[in-house]
Amino acid sequence: MSDNSLSSQKLADPKRPAHVQKRRRLSLYRALTIVITTSAALILFVSWWRAYPRRSECYNAAVVLLKTLDAYRLENQRLPPILDVLPLERKQRYILGHFEYQFPGLGAPATLPDGTIVANCNRVHTMVFHEPWRCAVMFREGKLVVEFLPEKIFENLLEQRKTVLPLY
Ligand SMILES: [Zn+2]
Repeated sequence: MSDNSLSSQKLADPKRPAHVQKRRRLSLYRALTIVITTSAALILFVSWWRAYPRRSECYNAAVVLLKTLDAYRLENQRLPPILDVLPLERKQRYILGHFEYQFPGLGAPATLPDGTIVANCNRVHTMVFHEPWRCAVMFREGKLVVEFLPEKIFENLLEQRKTVLPLY
């Protein structure tokens, strides 16, 4: 008889001491608890990480970007060639990492048609129970505003811009 069949016989042995069986059951429960807790923590961490930055953080960052962009725009009568030229404070540097500028290189005129996106989140925010969205700094009636755009509308506006402003 092989070792394998011996050990399986042992497992099935109803005459095993009760305390050994109890200990085995307890360690099984403990292992299960550890697995479930770790998975739950992992799921929570991943959903937090995916949702970062939160809607309010993203909005606040976009407003800071809007203010500095607008100051540059009014002073220079055009949009900057890159976002790095904006006087963003050190603690707000992450804005430059989070936002994508739509006019890199040449910049753009100081005023653009309604609905033109100037800068937007460089990745779509996906949250549980929410449709995917991005925050955008854009022109509305000749002024810069911050708007939350559902991903579909965002993509449509970008497409529109390519036809309205083929040079940029
Ligand atoms: Zn964002």
